[in-house]
Amino acid sequence: MITTHNLGFPRIGKKRELKFALERYWKGEITELALTDIAAELNARHWQDQAVLDWIPVGDFSLYDHVLDTSFLLGNIPARAAALPGSELDRYFRVARGRSANDSACSCVHAGEMTKWFDTNYHYIVPEFDSATRFSLNATRLLEQIRQARQFHRQIKPVIIGPVTYLWLGKSKDGSDKLELLDDLLAAYAQLFQSLQQAGVEWVQIDEPVLVMELSEAWKYALRKAYFQLQASPLKLMLTTYFGQLQDNLQLACELPVAGLHLDAISAQDEVAKVIDWLPSHKILSLGVVNGRNVWKTDLTATLDWLEPVAARLQDRLWLAPSCSLLHVPVDLDSEQKLDAEIRTWLAFALQKLDEVKLLAAALNHGRESVAAQLHSNRAAIDSRSQSRRVHRDNVKARVLAIDEAMELRRSGYRQRAALQREKFQLPLFPTTTIGSFPQTQQIRKIRQAFRTGQLSERDYREAMRLEIEACVYEQEALGLDVFVHGEPERNDMVEYFGEQLDGFAFTELGWVQSYGSRCVKPPIIYGDVARPHDITVKWSRYAQSLTKKPMKGMLTGPMTMLNWSFVRDDQPRDETCLQLALAIRDEVLALEKAGIGIIQIDEAALREGLPLRKAQWNSYLDWAIRAFRVTANGVKDATQIHTHMCYSEFNDIMPAIARMDADVITIETSRSNMELLDAFDQFHYPNEIGPGVYDIHSPNIPTVESIIALMQKAAQRIPAQRLWVNPDCGLKTRTWDEVKPALKNMVAASRYLSREV
Ligand code: GLN
Ligand code: ZN
Repeated sequence: MITTHNLGFPRIGKKRELKFALERYWKGEITELALTDIAAELNARHWQDQAVLDWIPVGDFSLYDHVLDTSFLLGNIPARAAALPGSELDRYFRVARGRSANDSACSCVHAGEMTKWFDTNYHYIVPEFDSATRFSLNATRLLEQIRQARQFHRQIKPVIIGPVTYLWLGKSKDGSDKLELLDDLLAAYAQLFQSLQQAGVEWVQIDEPVLVMELSEAWKYALRKAYFQLQASPLKLMLTTYFGQLQDNLQLACELPVAGLHLDAISAQDEVAKVIDWLPSHKILSLGVVNGRNVWKTDLTATLDWLEPVAARLQDRLWLAPSCSLLHVPVDLDSEQKLDAEIRTWLAFALQKLDEVKLLAAALNHGRESVAAQLHSNRAAIDSRSQSRRVHRDNVKARVLAIDEAMELRRSGYRQRAALQREKFQLPLFPTTTIGSFPQTQQIRKIRQAFRTGQLSERDYREAMRLEIEACVYEQEALGLDVFVHGEPERNDMVEYFGEQLDGFAFTELGWVQSYGSRCVKPPIIYGDVARPHDITVKWSRYAQSLTKKPMKGMLTGPMTMLNWSFVRDDQPRDETCLQLALAIRDEVLALEKAGIGIIQIDEAALREGLPLRKAQWNSYLDWAIRAFRVTANGVKDATQIHTHMCYSEFNDIMPAIARMDADVITIETSRSNMELLDAFDQFHYPNEIGPGVYDIHSPNIPTVESIIALMQKAAQRIPAQRLWVNPDCGLKTRTWDEVKPALKNMVAASRYLSREV
């Protein structure tokens, strides 16, 4: 018999119950007890929901982040959080977000750093280490969860992050070698295993996704050492890998002394045969055969076609699961009332994915006939998707095939273009601009909401938005900025806004996925060939330009950002979908140019996020990503100025690729790192213009004129003054006008001072 299990379940709740409970708790509206009650209810529901499988996970639930939970489990709590009085939960939220419900504003500590969980859009709290770090087990919470879960299911499997991945994810604060901590850490794990064993646990899922990364010898040795030591425990370990192929770690993964190995058979299907060859015959092989990171229905017949011979060979040694934790997909497709009926049949969210795992196991255990009806309806859905006219548009495919190199190239090089642009725009030295959005006031949100719900007619909506744009232009005149923006009041979100107006995109009502803590995102679904049926931003930009003599920047979202923040179709390579997006946005770029917009910004906030986990694959990703940008941007005339914007400061390692985008101006985040980014310019001479952000828009603080001058002077040591711009780090959407006005005023004053100096 083939066994089924799950690796992890979304914790936020179908209706984001956890989010709302957390936020109320932080505001002091509900007590700690009420919060834990809601969490317990959610847990109970999730365990019941997962009971269709043989083994269900425990300990994957978290009030904020499972990596932070692991830090607490191992007693690795930064001293700054432990110093203040309060409960364990207070300490927890202090590390998570700088303060807990009972702390006053002045007693907050700085929150733990947050970073992306491998190549997903989930952010975890980075564990902090130094050479003095010592671990001490505190398994109370986990043991309590195990106790509770048992009331719902017989076979429960605690999920913990493996010791090597835990070290890998953390940051050494004093530059000491994290691996030096391994011995002490292993002692804590050994103790943990003892407690789990005493609690009657049989299987433990131990996640070591580092096995899909490029590992140095030292890290490989750490894995060997860890598992050879931990094998002293009688617990059965399911060593779990996901998000990629094992490649050169395959043999190592197979040889580690554990009872079972989980392989992500979605991203590493071609490694299944090799793993079976290498895996000692007493070990269980768990295969992740349902994609835990995307929303498409599994092709069950196609999966069974390759899985049946594997099952025949492995028999009882085969387990089935989703490829990774279901944390990365929405909870329940059945919650979607408005989703297009046809598209809906193509999708599976977390609950539906569990059913797929169950069905596959049933087909293997009792023959395909035993689930013939379900396989039949699955087949019908898969066929409908692959043949739908709404998915496939011949003209779009033909256009992608016809992309030639000329479409990627500006007519002239940067120098010639810059001369023309200088003449056309007559900008001062150190020109000032902003990144696009201005404060999204309550008023603006109300107008959009009223329009969405039909309380406001299209005409009245447009009129209201025009007034917002006018106000925004007026403020920019008063501030004396050089290149204006219209302020983006009409946009809810930089991807959704464009997706909603393109063919090939679908949107959910409740398809929330946790991004970090209580924050969720609702990624659009790219289901079909992307086309642009009409202009998107032209009317707004043209209107804004009519209000001023200053150049008005057109504002677009780039193809990589659209791709990286959506659920992307899996029936064609990502680069193909990306080129379709590129063509659609290219058309918008050209339409803006035709409408008299001389400066166009194409945001690529998420370009870096798409980088593959293994560095060896970076170049091929960057090749097609940069090509897509060039196709988007480079059809314009020499005198039209292309800007791009990126939200991250570490781009040293991809600087040559960014230069290849050939944007006339790039604006980036830098103020937080005190222009550390500029070190990269010592090695690599960025050829075009650059605006290193001088105003940290994530903070309510207002930068002083002096601080802006100092940052820009630092920049001018590396980049000729003629090629520098002065701008904030990112859009001003989340700030208030009271903050924005003085900050921009200082920015303009700094720019004027600097241009006098030069
Ligand atoms: N133009 C967008 C804005 O200003 C850019 C947002 C971003 O980079 N995240 O809001
Ligand atoms: Zn940004």
